[in-house]
Formats: sequence, C-alpha cells, structure tokens
Amino acid sequence: MSKMDNLRAMREARYAEAQKRAAAAPARPAVKAPVAPPAPARKATVEADLATDDLCGHRNISGRTCTREKGHAAKTHRYS
Ligand SMILES: [Zn+2]
Repeated sequence: MSKMDNLRAMREARYAEAQKRAAAAPARPAVKAPVAPPAPARKATVEADLATDDLCGHRNISGRTCTREKGHAAKTHRYS
C-alpha cells in the first residue's frame, strides 16, 4: 500500500465517521428557544428566622448545632 493510498483510506474513514455522527446527532432548531424567565425568588422559609441561615444547622444529641456551611461536603457535622 502506498503512502497516498494510506492517506486516502484514512480520510475516507474519517469522512464516513463524520457522516455517521451527523446522522446520529439530533437536529438542532435553527432558532434559539426563548430563554425561560428566571424562577421567582425563593420564598422566605422558617430557616430565615434562624441565625444559622447559612449553616448546616444539624443538631447533635446534646442540642448543639452544626457550624459547618449549609450542605457541607464533609460527612461529619461540626459542633464547635
Ligand atoms: Zn452539618
């Protein structure tokens, strides 16, 4: 096989792959869908009344409150 044949085979393979991908991809609408209006502001919850608004707020057995940030990634709560 000559170098040119190699190149052509590669190009054809790539072209076929691109065609396949284009066929598989869902057709995109020409016009962009209108952007949905922003969600209404979250209603004030009971949590807002607490001083621990931005904190996890988890209580341990002795009634102490977790001082880590809300939704913390750490598996354990911190009560200091
Ligand atoms: Zn916590």
